[in-house]
Amino acid sequence: MSMHSDLFHQRFEARFSDGRTAGSREIKVELTERGIAILQHEAGEPLIWPYGALATAEPLTDHAIDALVTCSYQPGATLFVQGPRFARALAKLAPQLTASAERWRSASPWLWGAVATVALSVIVWLADLSPARTIASMLPDKARAAMGRQVIASMSEGRSVCDDPSGKKALGKLTERLASATHADRPFTVVVLDWGLVNAFATPGENVVLTRGLLEAAEGPDEIAGVLAHEMGHGIELHPETGLVRAMGLAAATELLMGGSGGALGNIGIVLLQLSYSRDAEGQADDHAISILRQASVSSKGFAHFFERMSKRDGKASGGLGKGGLGGMLSSHPETGERLAKVLAAGGYDATPALTEADWSELKGICANTSPASEQSEPPDDKAQ
Ligand SMILES: [Zn+2]
Repeated sequence: MSMHSDLFHQRFEARFSDGRTAGSREIKVELTERGIAILQHEAGEPLIWPYGALATAEPLTDHAIDALVTCSYQPGATLFVQGPRFARALAKLAPQLTASAERWRSASPWLWGAVATVALSVIVWLADLSPARTIASMLPDKARAAMGRQVIASMSEGRSVCDDPSGKKALGKLTERLASATHADRPFTVVVLDWGLVNAFATPGENVVLTRGLLEAAEGPDEIAGVLAHEMGHGIELHPETGLVRAMGLAAATELLMGGSGGALGNIGIVLLQLSYSRDAEGQADDHAISILRQASVSSKGFAHFFERMSKRDGKASGGLGKGGLGGMLSSHPETGERLAKVLAAGGYDATPALTEADWSELKGICANTSPASEQSEPPDDKAQ
């Protein structure tokens, strides 16, 4: 083991769910000679998960950006550690987590604990052994909608929702124009939060959150249309649902499958803000954005220009965008330039402005009137088609 001594005694932030009580906690873990040391409390003995008893929800590849770990000694418990550093170190210490022959076997304790049905195993098999994505795609629409409401309620705690009537009307027009250009004609709902941060988030159940800061930073409606189309792309691919299932672990996934919305989901908005999507996921969202904009006859130039401007700005004053949403997209340097080129190259069709001048100025003024977020947490019944 001495050959790996450089891997030991680094600490990592993690999210731990013991599988018995609802919810997950932020804790620290350390890689030790004996296994993963889970530091549950400041004082006291850490819990040790031996490397040989570990399984991961997905095999630890070189491209892994996080790790969802279970241990056969503690059925039902999950440990989620974000970032490639931990995943890479763990892959060296527990090589069985990387071997393709072990994939199915290693995923199973976690999976069987979650929903022990033969049907599920078949679906997981067909779905290329990605349990989080599979569970996300199995969630009934009702559960995804409940999840979306939870996220928005949790994310908007202490903030207001912008709901100036003329602004909402203009936003509805833009949303409908883009949503009707998605293949499945998905009923997206877009909420603007009175929040200075420049960002946008896809949330579960075909919801998108935009911030006041984003509207202020945009130079025209095409830029907002591009951001919105990109976030819709994440929604269509169930990226928020998948990310949350991965991050929150078994307790939340089971609760969601049951259609519940109890304790495990209380901090779901914070978790979503911390998610960052993989390069592949960002590429998929871009591809959707490109085709949605084309279908809707909106130029993709606004989308490209907005991200170009924001990535320069973020480079100068980094940290302003946060980790989730656009922040995650922009942090994936150096691919940003490549992706912008792809978006720009997709142009060359007849386009009209995403909104008229009048509607655009109404949309910019949507935060002229705001309401406390708690009043908005009822199921939206006026979804744009
Ligand atoms: Zn994105």
